[in-house]
Amino acid sequence: MVQTLVIKIGTSSLTQPTTGQLALSTIATLVEILSTLRQQGNRVVLVSSGAVGVGCARLGLIERPKTIALKQAVAAVGQGRLMRIYDDFFTALKQPIAQVLLTRGDLVERSHYVNVYRTFQELLRLGVIPIVNENDTVAVDELKFGDNDTLSALVASLVDADWLFLMTDVDRLYSADPRSNPDAEPISLVQSIEQLAEIKTIGSGSGWGTGGMVTKISAAQIATGAGVRTVIMQGQSPHNILKILAGEAIGTQFEPQPRPINARQRWIAHGLIPTGKLYLDDGAVKAIRKSGKSLLAAGIVQIEGEFESQDAVKLCDRSGHEIARGLVNYDHADLQKIRGHHSEKISEILGYVGADTIVHRDNLVLI
Ligand code: GLU
Repeated sequence: MVQTLVIKIGTSSLTQPTTGQLALSTIATLVEILSTLRQQGNRVVLVSSGAVGVGCARLGLIERPKTIALKQAVAAVGQGRLMRIYDDFFTALKQPIAQVLLTRGDLVERSHYVNVYRTFQELLRLGVIPIVNENDTVAVDELKFGDNDTLSALVASLVDADWLFLMTDVDRLYSADPRSNPDAEPISLVQSIEQLAEIKTIGSGSGWGTGGMVTKISAAQIATGAGVRTVIMQGQSPHNILKILAGEAIGTQFEPQPRPINARQRWIAHGLIPTGKLYLDDGAVKAIRKSGKSLLAAGIVQIEGEFESQDAVKLCDRSGHEIARGLVNYDHADLQKIRGHHSEKISEILGYVGADTIVHRDNLVLI
């Protein structure tokens, strides 16, 4: 079966832990595996970090840059080197590749999102392996993916992938920090949103949560929500990708959530950056979650943020836990006036006839 696979590899797997030099054998094995998967007819996308790390090695810097400008300059040096290495290795196997550098802002505008989507489709149709990284040299703080785990999950959602492999320096997740807690149990399979939320709590509440595990679990949440099966696995053993695809229980595997979302919904949920937060009463939460209803003004107890009409907002329960995302029909000032009121009163309160719903069900995606 032809599948769409997104593989993310981090700097820690691409470089030697002590010297910071490139881990050439890992890169070569990864290139072989990805080329094999391509030759079998699969659509393959590689999300690779390493621009900053390789840039530091090239310039002989002994520590990672601290200022933004230096980091951006070093990434500009490293990204070219990184692609040169990939191109040499892939070319040896006659596998064409492409460089795709993205910033968070590229996914916000619907027209840009669709454009990026089409470019990926064409590259995959041509049998090319796109190699994606954040465009570190121009990214500004407010429009950053921040880390390549998040970037890879958003790319997996964008290309409607079947699998996302997050390759890292641990073999799988554990119920506690295995370095300090002998009772830590390995976690092989995460099946439900509830189980995922529980693991996220363990991750952020322990030392084990640092070193990127929390961002990996958040990435798994984004990807599985978009219907992508996600795996956290050891970066030094790229062969395991083939074994996992053959059904072996390696790493920690997260099952995709069983509610398919279409391309527009994926853009609403993962492309847009929410600018506001609406707190809903229990009735509204139930109507949205269980009955697929639109959000009405009556169910809103509190609002946060300065948003315009048609911006993306988070829909949360009373305690602030996000349950859905959607496009809002009123700006924050008007919504403040009508929240808690019956829909029939909206025109009377605002002095104009607006939409009956605050977030229409067609523009709403459960998270
Ligand atoms: N884009 C960064 C780089 O190439 C890496 C970010 C990350 O690893 O999360 O160095």
